[in-house]
Amino acid sequence: MNTPRPEQPPIIWLNVLVFALTFAIAAIGVPWYAVTEGFQTSTLVAAILATAFCGFSITAGYHRLWSHRAYEAHPLVRGLFAIGGAFALQNSILHWSSDHRVHHQHVDDNDRDPYSAKRGFWYAHIGWMLREYQASRYHDYRNVRDLQRDPIVVWQHRHYLKLVLLTNFGIPALFGVLSGDLLGSLLLVGFLRLVVSHHVTFFINSLAHMWGRQPYSDENTAKDNALVALLTYGEGYHNYHHAFQFDYRNAIRWWQFDPTKWMIRSMKALGLAWNLKTCPEERVARAVLKQQMKTARQRLEHKRLPNAEELLQRLQQEYEQLLQRLQDYYEVKKAWIEAKRERWNESVERSALSQRYRQMKASFREQQRAWQQLRLQVA
Ligand SMILES: [Zn+2]
Ligand SMILES: [Zn+2]
Repeated sequence: MNTPRPEQPPIIWLNVLVFALTFAIAAIGVPWYAVTEGFQTSTLVAAILATAFCGFSITAGYHRLWSHRAYEAHPLVRGLFAIGGAFALQNSILHWSSDHRVHHQHVDDNDRDPYSAKRGFWYAHIGWMLREYQASRYHDYRNVRDLQRDPIVVWQHRHYLKLVLLTNFGIPALFGVLSGDLLGSLLLVGFLRLVVSHHVTFFINSLAHMWGRQPYSDENTAKDNALVALLTYGEGYHNYHHAFQFDYRNAIRWWQFDPTKWMIRSMKALGLAWNLKTCPEERVARAVLKQQMKTARQRLEHKRLPNAEELLQRLQQEYEQLLQRLQDYYEVKKAWIEAKRERWNESVERSALSQRYRQMKASFREQQRAWQQLRLQVA
């Protein structure tokens, strides 16, 4: 006998239709037009630029600026992001940020996280928007009171539908008329751009919570993944992001792909962004060490080696020693940076500090090497 399925919340037909129709038109219309008519280069370029405009409005605007307040920005920038977000058709800033703050606060909680990855790929990617799963909090904006003080956020929320229609039909149509290829522009700049920017953002809720490494914390499902970062304007370093959500960077190494961070930095250079928040290096290093210790201990328990007890003791000792050297190193580093900034003339003191800084750095590095070797034994 079949067990009755638990009652599902009602389907949100508008969302289902928008996602299904835009996807179908892009998937069928674009290849058909490419074969029968061919797209102009200018239309392709416009589609790429429009996709980037939508993408950055979400990552740099909706996400890092408004949801996390990781920096502050000029009204011109905020206005552009507000228009780009409506163009990306991802609900108003207020609604998106409210959902996103709940996501961080209750990450992986199937009842409270709006797009909990523990409910599976489909649900986290798009399923959560297709039924009224959390109808009770659709108009509950208590966790975004601060954003309601931003007149641009309020303006966008109030005129959201008009802005959606104006941007999504107006921009592709205007470009189509100017370039002389209206249908080509509607297909590429209109539909394909929308579908791509939708799914790229959705990957941050699905893929970035399922596929990758967890160097900073395994307390939740968020992962760091270079490939996902490549698709999502740098948001794929999601493990770092969940560990230090107020940081305007998602990737902290120079070689990691985080164009959203580069864009925010460029805006700062132009005087369009300020108050960029970062997590102190020392705190990040401590989190990495703590996670390494946790993983090493788990592996050791799992492997059941005959000398497990002794190895665990050594791990603990090396870990504590490393933490001590880390603290010493960052203390002297801080003093060294301050000295470089302020006390150029006190040369004797400066050179002593410089020497101490180099010593501490070397001894920290040495201890790090010992720690890595020990971790390899456990791995
Ligand atoms: Zn997340
Ligand atoms: Zn976030």
